[in-house]
Amino acid sequence: MGRPAAERREELIELYREVRQCRRCPLYATRTQVVFGSGNADADLMFVGEAPGFHEDQQGKPFVGAAGKLLDTLLGEIGMARDDVFIANVLKSRPPGNRDPQPDEIEACKPYLARQIELIEPLVICTLGNFATKCLTRRQDGITRVHGRPQDHAIAGLPIRIYPIYHPAAGLRSTAMLETLRQDFQRLPELLEAARPQPAEDEPEEASGGSAEPVGAAQLDLFG
Ligand code: URA
Repeated sequence: MGRPAAERREELIELYREVRQCRRCPLYATRTQVVFGSGNADADLMFVGEAPGFHEDQQGKPFVGAAGKLLDTLLGEIGMARDDVFIANVLKSRPPGNRDPQPDEIEACKPYLARQIELIEPLVICTLGNFATKCLTRRQDGITRVHGRPQDHAIAGLPIRIYPIYHPAAGLRSTAMLETLRQDFQRLPELLEAARPQPAEDEPEEASGGSAEPVGAAQLDLFG
């Protein structure tokens, strides 16, 4: 922890360039483009979804379809926006026809997600749905059982609070699910606050540097 944000951001851009060329699983042959993730490279809060869908594959950005619009709404309801957070997926390439990610695809892509987490250093990772939750908690408990309950894990050597919630696509399918998703979402500010290191008394709070400068890699929408 504690490496300068600008240095970590540069390495994230390097990683993006690497992932763009990735051929570790057969999905490279059917994708339009890699969907690396986007947002604030120094975010305290990261969201991890399942895999790009049709619109994400077309545009190269995560959560730009209907589920993404709901995610934006829920973020707005807690006073946050996309450029406050980083949004990524377990898989960086779209599975054809939006089928479920396969175990070998998850294994091939997992090191990229781990590296993203290592470089962004989030305090809280909100996993959206079953695939992200199982992938990051390394447990088989399903989302119905674990949603809304924070779990502490070490990921990429960092102490991280994982907060599983339903995938926004589930919230689009049922109003009961949407209500649960909304309730779970409302707890995020409190979880973030609790995860933030408290400044020592008499110590001025540092401005969080380095997250607002634009960078060249257009698809990333990175960092403001
Ligand atoms: N669903 C996901 O899990 N990720 C996206 O980026 C879009 C839809």
